[in-house]
Amino acid sequence: MNMSNSLVWFRRDLRAFDHAALYQALTSSNRVHCVFVYDSDILDPLPRDDRRVRFIHASIASLDAELRRLGACLIVRQGRPLEVVPALAAELDVDAVLVCADYEPEAVERDAQMEERLRADGRQFLKFKDQVIFEQHEVLTLAKGPFSVFTPYKNAWLKRLAAMPETLAAWPVDPYAHNFAPPPSGTPALPSLEEIGFAPGEPPLPAGMEGAEMLFEDFVNRIADYGRARDFPAEDSTSRLSVHLRFGTTSIRHLVRTARQMAENGAGGAGASVWLSELIWRDFYSMILARNPHVVERSFKPAFDALAWESGDEAEELFAAWCEGRTGYPLVDAAMAQLNQTGFMHNRLRMVTASFLTKDLGVDWRRGERYFALKLNDYELASNNGGWQWAASTGCDAQPWFRIFNPVSQSTRFDAHGEFIREWVPALKLLSAKEIHAPWLVAEEVLAEKGVVLGQDYPLPVVEHDAARKRTLERFAVVKKAA
Ligand code: FAD
Repeated sequence: MNMSNSLVWFRRDLRAFDHAALYQALTSSNRVHCVFVYDSDILDPLPRDDRRVRFIHASIASLDAELRRLGACLIVRQGRPLEVVPALAAELDVDAVLVCADYEPEAVERDAQMEERLRADGRQFLKFKDQVIFEQHEVLTLAKGPFSVFTPYKNAWLKRLAAMPETLAAWPVDPYAHNFAPPPSGTPALPSLEEIGFAPGEPPLPAGMEGAEMLFEDFVNRIADYGRARDFPAEDSTSRLSVHLRFGTTSIRHLVRTARQMAENGAGGAGASVWLSELIWRDFYSMILARNPHVVERSFKPAFDALAWESGDEAEELFAAWCEGRTGYPLVDAAMAQLNQTGFMHNRLRMVTASFLTKDLGVDWRRGERYFALKLNDYELASNNGGWQWAASTGCDAQPWFRIFNPVSQSTRFDAHGEFIREWVPALKLLSAKEIHAPWLVAEEVLAEKGVVLGQDYPLPVVEHDAARKRTLERFAVVKKAA
């Protein structure tokens, strides 16, 4: 690969360190330009106060500042990448456009078209692994097939990494900065949120490379306790790095390297290896999606496509109650309030709410998945789809489908004192730790003393768990043999 002039197109890799495509461009050409495109097809349907757009906007500013420190700049455009990128490549007369690979089916399709267009103009389109540690064909079973269960995948993943530690090597940018194309005079300032058609506002959490590093530094001080604390939403003990991993403001190699070192040298206690496992789940779901693109619309296990989910007015009402956090199950409602108000939901609660929608309300997992996609700051197709299919028991899960979460025991177990519920469902804030998980079991006079009339200040449960459980077992009986 020898080029004089190249263009790095940033997508979900908004950083200027340990960046595979940037490294490849800088080490093989001596005029490297950088571009980010606000994709109008993605942006147009979003609400004007979308938190993710604010995060991207702030992260782009941080990327541009870093590129300027290195003597370059970020060109920012808005439109359809398939039109904007080839036009810019022609304007700059580059030999190649370099990107970090994106594995989502729509991105794969778009990149195939991009390659064709650029090739027609006599330019190369080069993709590099950056977003994951191992791509879909790198971790295989002994029979050279794909894994479909997490634990054996994780063991093979760890084995491969031990055999190939160079996988974690960083792609340095600084030493090759002299190969950046300097900012042309009169480069326009980055567009403001208003200029790209959005309302001004702060990102939902510290954005950009420095935001990611700040969160990570804070987290490594707490990582030792992660194995114990990660399941308790009130403790807020997780890293909150998912949005940064989604938009590539941090490097997965950097995180895995640190977690692995901390696990090996003992500095990270037991928590570091548990956290490393979570990062492996991310690779796992990326692999599952890449190898099984049918999961976007259908069940991972085809037999489960036969499930008849609830439909009609009642199902619509139940779905609306779930979305709006008024199911009458306090932990579910608290979780949905956290999601609606902040764009974040704790992992344990994603499992609880997804299980509640599919197993208690009998609503199709795809509807919940789409709602999460609209609301989650860290929304990522592979992990979201994997998480939903896990909860609905239609996915690659070693757990049998007849294990159904009880929303009340999940609440007493993971929010024993009711602290999380009190934070997000203020109507219940005076209820004791014993009363708060199932207020319909508390005497009316006791509730009244605490300012709660059920059906007025807080909803009665929209379904009865035991009856719902029976219906779910019947629903799943159609796939009993296949499961
Ligand atoms: P930490 O506990 O600090 O974990 C570190 C990182 O590991 C996360 O940032 C994430 O990248 C990865 N990770 C952790 N758990 C998982 C997991 N189960 N699957 C895949 N990766 C994982 N994660 C997303 O990034 N985007 C989603 O859209 C998404 N949707 C989900 C939907 C459902 C129904 C479920 C059950 C889980 C979903 N997850 C999703 C996984 C997980 O809930 C989040 O990654 C996690 O809550 C983010 O918080 P954190 O960064 O503090 O996590």
